[in-house]
Amino acid sequence: MYFRVIEDARSSTLGYLLADLDTLDAVAIDPPPGQEALIGALLDERGLRLQYVARTHVHRPDHADCSALCAHSGAACVAGTEIAGVPAVLRLGQGDTLVFGGEVLRVLATPGHTPACVSYQWRDRLFCGDVFDVGGCAVGDSESDPGLLYDTLTLRIFALPGETLVFPAHRLKGRTVTMVAEERRRHAHVAGISRESFVTGMAFRRTVRPRIAPAPDGRSGG
Ligand SMILES: [Zn+2]
Repeated sequence: MYFRVIEDARSSTLGYLLADLDTLDAVAIDPPPGQEALIGALLDERGLRLQYVARTHVHRPDHADCSALCAHSGAACVAGTEIAGVPAVLRLGQGDTLVFGGEVLRVLATPGHTPACVSYQWRDRLFCGDVFDVGGCAVGDSESDPGLLYDTLTLRIFALPGETLVFPAHRLKGRTVTMVAEERRRHAHVAGISRESFVTGMAFRRTVRPRIAPAPDGRSGG
């Protein structure tokens, strides 16, 4: 088992490199833009082959273009949606699996932050992109859907074992890892209200909070 966190401070993004050290097959999840050289060096260090570049979600426009990494490494790009500029994206949905060596990534459809967000479950870990950027969903752009986010949180994410380690695409309140049980507690207000109330509350937040300018990392409100 091989696991490395790749953080790009400039864009405030977190990516992950996983590998099976027996077969040397590797997967990069949400590789931060501009980190191709670092990822290449990490692969070379262990003699790893990058089999997949897995994206949890893609904004339009895409500020985390992975086409250079895919082209240079020969890795297949996988995501829940098509990606402009990246040919032959392998589209994944709920229940799909990605096998690399003797390891398996299980795909969960987790829409809300964007319509085609997916999360990847590997061993005791979940890579969920911006699923927990609930506030960002409220003030986000037309890509977000609070109703779908409510379903994702209550039916998919919080249903996972509480011990599941959660690795987001951006730091959560300064932290790079949390647990499902901890996020359940932090978002207890979500589980305690109806879908309709959640959507209404988000709509209210949208009216009282001004639409924020794009973050330095290019995210549009998350
Ligand atoms: Zn996002």
